[in-house]
Amino acid sequence: MVEYNKPLPQITPENKPFWDACKQHELSLQRCQDCGHLRLPSPICQKCLSMNSEWVEVSGRGKVYTWVVIHQRYHPGFVEELPYNVTLVELEEGPRLITNIVGCNNEDLHVGMDVEVVFEDVTEEITLPKFKPVSQ
Ligand code: ZN
Repeated sequence: MVEYNKPLPQITPENKPFWDACKQHELSLQRCQDCGHLRLPSPICQKCLSMNSEWVEVSGRGKVYTWVVIHQRYHPGFVEELPYNVTLVELEEGPRLITNIVGCNNEDLHVGMDVEVVFEDVTEEITLPKFKPVSQ
């Protein structure tokens, strides 16, 4: 595996199930066991403040909510990829996550674009969820 020189997420006991699922190429969200609200890793439910939760696999489908195209080098690890997009994807199940759209020219990105998750194994420990356009 080529040395990965970009920032990596920090694994904590709270978010480990999310990253473990990514490693298995599955997208998981935390579901509140009291009200059913789905969320990205967080110790507490934003809807009802319950701390009871379980992890559930979700569809991996969503839509582009918004994005930016980065032209400036803010981190040396990204220099080869300029210009690249940073995109907020709204999952079918509701939560929005920050990611990149791959397999698509930045010029073709649009709000509401149907996308699905793909997984990039970047290190032994970390697999990143990214998204690609759904082929129609
Ligand atoms: Zn709740």
